[in-house]
Amino acid sequence: ILRDITGKKMAEERLRLTSKVFENTVESIIITDAKQKILQVNEAFTRITGYRPEEVTGKTPDILRSGWHDEKFYKEMWNSVNQKGMWQGEVWDRRKNGEVFAGQLTISAIKDEKGSVRNYVGLFYDITEKKRTEERIQHLAYYDALTNLPNRSLFYDRLGHTLASSQRYRRLVALMFLDLDNFKIINDTLGHHVGDMLLKACAGRLTECLRKDPTVARVGGDEFTVILANIKDPRDAVVVSERINGVLSKPFTLDGHEVFVTSSIGISLYPDDADNVQTLVMNADTAMYHAKGQGGNRYQFFSKALNVKARERLRMGTLLRHALEKDEFLLYYQPEVDLKTGLITGHEALVRWQQPGVGLTPPAEFIPVAEETGLIVEIDEWVLRRACTQTRAWHEDGYDTLRVAVNFSGLHLRDEKTVEMVSGVLKETGLDAGYLELEITEGVLMENVEMTVKMLNKLKSIGVRLSVDDFGTGYSSLNYLKRFPIDKIKIDQSFVRDITTDSDDAAIVKTIITLAHSLNCKVIAEGVETEEELEFLRSNGCDEVQGYYFSRPLPPEEFEKFLKEGKKIRRKSIA
Ligand code: C2E
Ligand code: MG
Ligand code: MG
Repeated sequence: ILRDITGKKMAEERLRLTSKVFENTVESIIITDAKQKILQVNEAFTRITGYRPEEVTGKTPDILRSGWHDEKFYKEMWNSVNQKGMWQGEVWDRRKNGEVFAGQLTISAIKDEKGSVRNYVGLFYDITEKKRTEERIQHLAYYDALTNLPNRSLFYDRLGHTLASSQRYRRLVALMFLDLDNFKIINDTLGHHVGDMLLKACAGRLTECLRKDPTVARVGGDEFTVILANIKDPRDAVVVSERINGVLSKPFTLDGHEVFVTSSIGISLYPDDADNVQTLVMNADTAMYHAKGQGGNRYQFFSKALNVKARERLRMGTLLRHALEKDEFLLYYQPEVDLKTGLITGHEALVRWQQPGVGLTPPAEFIPVAEETGLIVEIDEWVLRRACTQTRAWHEDGYDTLRVAVNFSGLHLRDEKTVEMVSGVLKETGLDAGYLELEITEGVLMENVEMTVKMLNKLKSIGVRLSVDDFGTGYSSLNYLKRFPIDKIKIDQSFVRDITTDSDDAAIVKTIITLAHSLNCKVIAEGVETEEELEFLRSNGCDEVQGYYFSRPLPPEEFEKFLKEGKKIRRKSIA
């Protein structure tokens, strides 16, 4: 008797425990009979689904169906439960209030000694939040937050899929790489929030004009890609490029500013130009660079020739690295002449690259490569040292008012060590700072106005002069120009070229002269080749000129001869 009671007590205790677990567990539990009629549910079930026990007993769990899964889904689920005794997976169900939720569900079949099903037990918990977070993360990982376009990863993913299916069906794919031409300037002058608005607006126009099927993605700052899958002819890509350039070139009004952009588009074709994702992307990028190099606002198909050019640049980068050590650079000097006095006021130092067995490479070919690789910083320093040394020597020969103009890459403006470097070279060579003029191109000045103003002021404070090179080719704003401590403006030769034949250019040059004087700057015109050009510039108040009319850039020995003929120059310039 005693033992019986103990057994009964233990059984009761177990039952009490089981029912406590049943009630308190966070997972929702449903127990049904063999016909799937609900016998019992726990508190968690009510909390998750909204149904009280008396509302569901006697019904089947089908009341929870959301309609998100088809019949096949449930059939396979129950097949698995009946055959393997269990099913596990994610189910989208519906709460009493109509809301759909995601549950992680396990169903087990409970069998009697004979092996036939007595009960089913369903155990599930709410994973809706987890699912939502997953989706958000998924979205963040594959979409650009600013424009909501697919990002770089998704772009590569889709391109991979597109190529795979095109290969199967032998179809043509065009990949277009698109880069906004003047985004940087807009971003730097009007601020990042206008820049962001512009990117969004561009994304909007792109998706709208490519509505039908192509995939637009944003793969970098101002870089977009378009995949044209399944085209019949490369000319389809031309049509799309022209449409894109058309919609982008209409003015944007952003935060009260009217903004204009153009784009450069590189196109590469599969399978003609490349048979894999990497090469296709690289080729489109190369073509885009080429379009940009041609002045932008255009499209360019990839070609083998472009690839050769790209490789050539790569090779040149390597050669340039050794050019400094091998002492392969030379300096030529071109005089700058004062139009009132006819005196040579100074000279511009122009670098030349002389490779044994190759000959002279013009700076227009290697300076851009040196800029890209950052090597220009060292080249410029070498030029600066050599030019200052030379000018100091000419001062000692009696030409002691000569100023030297040295071209200064935009990269120096971002380099902390620039001021120290320049003052170091001046000290080392003994040239007075007032005789050194640093030429910075107009485009570079406008790239990052705040930083530029700071750097230019620092340079000014050590006594060097500053001049703006290639003026007229950039996008200066008078507002900013006023803030730069500049001494001289150099009118770009492209305007001088047509000064006597093109009334627009003549008007631009006159305006630049007036503008420069109003900013208290001297004006020099470069690329002066004829007497007519000289006459025009003189009569419109230009202070100085530089150009073949007086002299081509000369090696130092010849420049010395030129200095000795000073009188002749005077006659030629003030006649
Ligand atoms: P830039 O500073 O605008 O130099 C003027 C260019 O115009 C020089 O070309 C000069 O030879 C050329 N030129 C001068 N007068 C005339 C003329 O009457 N007619 C014509 N058709 N051309 C004329 P260059 O020497 O080929 O230099 C090209 C550019 O390379 C320079 O343009 C400058 O931006 C860059 N560069 C040259 N040397 C250096 C350097 O040491 N450092 C840096 N960063 N850039 C340099
Ligand atoms: Mg220059
Ligand atoms: Mg120039």
